[in-house]
Amino acid sequence: MLEVRDLSVSYGAIRAVRGISFSLGRGELVSLLGANGAGKSSTIKCIAGALRASGGAITLEGRDITAASPEQVVRAGLATVPETRDVFPDLTVAENLMLGAYIHRRDQAGNRDNLERMHALFPRLSERSNQAAGTLSGGEQQMLVIARALMSRPSVLLLDEPSLGLAPAIVDRIFEMIETLKKSGLTILLVEQNVNQALAVADRAYVMRLGSIVASGTADEIRSTSDLSAHYLGS
Ligand code: ATP
Repeated sequence: MLEVRDLSVSYGAIRAVRGISFSLGRGELVSLLGANGAGKSSTIKCIAGALRASGGAITLEGRDITAASPEQVVRAGLATVPETRDVFPDLTVAENLMLGAYIHRRDQAGNRDNLERMHALFPRLSERSNQAAGTLSGGEQQMLVIARALMSRPSVLLLDEPSLGLAPAIVDRIFEMIETLKKSGLTILLVEQNVNQALAVADRAYVMRLGSIVASGTADEIRSTSDLSAHYLGS
């Protein structure tokens, strides 16, 4: 479904991602783990088209998207929820959601159906449809940006640190929702610092350290064979 081959990302002289390769099969939930600065967000931004790769290739369903713009990437079927969790604060929840459907703006019936699906998936957002997005709680804003990404009807969803800064009860809800999305057949790449919860929902995981992948395998293999704390904490 998604294949990343020998991907490198640099910021001037800083080599943030150093020739990493990984793949996601259709319907798989794969987690990308690693300490702060390991290169996870740079990888996500590069796949999303927000950063240029300095080397390597990214293909989505066999199609080369390495040099695609963010909009072209969304049109190709890949949506991203960045860790910045940006909503348009003065627009309502409903308006924020419809912006996510921008590429399907001529398909109003399809968007209405998809909006109903989002309301079923996120009842909290449905209750707050006419509320300004900036007045939502942190957890509700996280749900809104996920729902907004889903309005583009992606086949692959990239989630960058969806649990960051949220209370434990809300984090549990976000992970339950991620499991629901996986069951619906969506292919998901989940970047997380919350290793235990990420491994609990992931089929497979890759561990990054200093721009390279240092371990990979099923969630059980990662838990049992790799010295996770050394890789994860970078110690
Ligand atoms: P975090 O969990 O803290 O977001 P990460 O694994 O996502 O960490 P990245 O944000 O990809 O890591 O950062 C990888 C490396 O690239 C770090 O050394 C970081 O300082 C550097 N870096 C990231 N963004 C920039 C930038 N805009 N300019 C220069 N260096 C950057």
